[in-house]
Amino acid sequence: MPNPLFDALFAPLAGQSRTLLHLGDGRQITAAAFHALTARLAHAMREAGVEPGDRVAVQVTKSPEALAVYGATVALGAIFLPLNTAYTAAEIDYFLGNATPRLFLCDPGKVVSLAPVAQRNGAQLLSLSGDGQGSLIDLAADQPKTLVPVDRTGRDLAAILYTSGTTGRSKGAMLSHDNLLSNAAVLADHWRFTNTDVLLHALPIFHTHGLFVASNVSLLTGGQMIFLPGFDLEQVIATLPHATTMMGVPTFYTRLLDDPRLTRELVGHMRLFISGSAPLLSETHIAFEDRTGLRILERYGMTETNMNTSNPYAGDRRAGTVGQPLPGVELRITAHDLPVATGEVGMIEVRGPNVFQGYWQMPEKTREELREDGWFLTGDLATQDADGYVTIVGRAKDLIITGGYNVYPKEVEEILDAVPGVLESAVIGLPHPDFGEAIFAVLARAKGQEPDLDAAKAAVAERLARFKHPKAMIVVDALPRNTMGKVQKAELRKIHGKWFQS
Ligand code: AMP
Repeated sequence: MPNPLFDALFAPLAGQSRTLLHLGDGRQITAAAFHALTARLAHAMREAGVEPGDRVAVQVTKSPEALAVYGATVALGAIFLPLNTAYTAAEIDYFLGNATPRLFLCDPGKVVSLAPVAQRNGAQLLSLSGDGQGSLIDLAADQPKTLVPVDRTGRDLAAILYTSGTTGRSKGAMLSHDNLLSNAAVLADHWRFTNTDVLLHALPIFHTHGLFVASNVSLLTGGQMIFLPGFDLEQVIATLPHATTMMGVPTFYTRLLDDPRLTRELVGHMRLFISGSAPLLSETHIAFEDRTGLRILERYGMTETNMNTSNPYAGDRRAGTVGQPLPGVELRITAHDLPVATGEVGMIEVRGPNVFQGYWQMPEKTREELREDGWFLTGDLATQDADGYVTIVGRAKDLIITGGYNVYPKEVEEILDAVPGVLESAVIGLPHPDFGEAIFAVLARAKGQEPDLDAAKAAVAERLARFKHPKAMIVVDALPRNTMGKVQKAELRKIHGKWFQS
């Protein structure tokens, strides 16, 4: 009886005595033990009432047990719904109300505050801690170590992942078995993963990057993972010599570069570093190669689509670009629904087996963004060159319209980033009485330095038309980022929104 995702990722682990997970505390978990854990959890969850098609919402600390809950949910034919560990009770209330899960799993320390939320939304509440304790584990203790997964087709849903929702409410992206499996297979092949790979996994598993890109690819190819609770620099440096691959957000790479222990010798065993989820500065790409001799491979994707583009494994990995469309993914760049000329800025649209099934219970939002002919409007603005390489210039909602002119923040940011004393910058549009929006630049100071604002103004004046010049610049210690390393421009707009209005 088929269950496509379980059969490909989890079923093959049964009975294998090899190590699957190396944990931060030195413990190892074999593939067989992980499979047995998945089976016991699935029986426990079934006992707790989970049936095929039910949602299982999970807000727990990263652990092998949490990853096994993903496998168990899929085995039951249910829908895995991981939630960011930073969400508050009020936010959880929204997600449980929207998704109406049968079961909600949280950390034991949050049971008191979240029990009323679960109850109000009709979800059964069980707990699971980062060290593998809690009521779910108690319920799983004496359960059978084998299981027969529930029959599913490739079109059935395996997961709902809520988008980070920087504007408006988060939307639940519905992902089918085929969406996840097809993308994992393409990535495994494109990045040449095999069962000899050891993936350093320091990403959260409530997000597509750590859960699907990293875990699915490693599980599909029968490899091992060094499974760390998060990005702890000491742990990452200690374990890098044992890994062959790492997937990270750009801040992983900047933090590694800040440490003199990052050397060619340290990464001598590594064959591939991959970056995504936020733009990797060209300067980081180059500095990393200078220090280690390895070129980071940058790729681009999103919750709704899995991965869309990637730099090549063997060919030219171009700094500042996210590479070419992956095999099987169609990509076009449009403005007002028409393809733009090569090199012109437009919105990225994608179509392919990776593209999600729509937003959970939001048919109108789905219609707006996912066309009937299968093209999905990503909301990302980019150019594509004659070789097919895509360069992202920003989110459409971050585009600034000042005095009727369009300004792409990235062209201003690139100039400001190169100014002495500037680590990085964020350029946003703020309401302005004359211009509609005015350009506002936030400069983060480089460690122990002070940005030279006169040099910044001069650099902008020399390179950009006047309407693109920031009307104000401020200096801060660091830009606000979310857990995936994305700069939170919405937050900057909120904090500084009245700058030009008083
Ligand atoms: P999420 O759904 O949280 O994974 O966010 C997806 C968004 O992250 C995309 O729509 C892009 O705006 C951004 N993103 C992902 N990868 C990259 C990348 N390599 N470079 C620039 N932006 C990226």
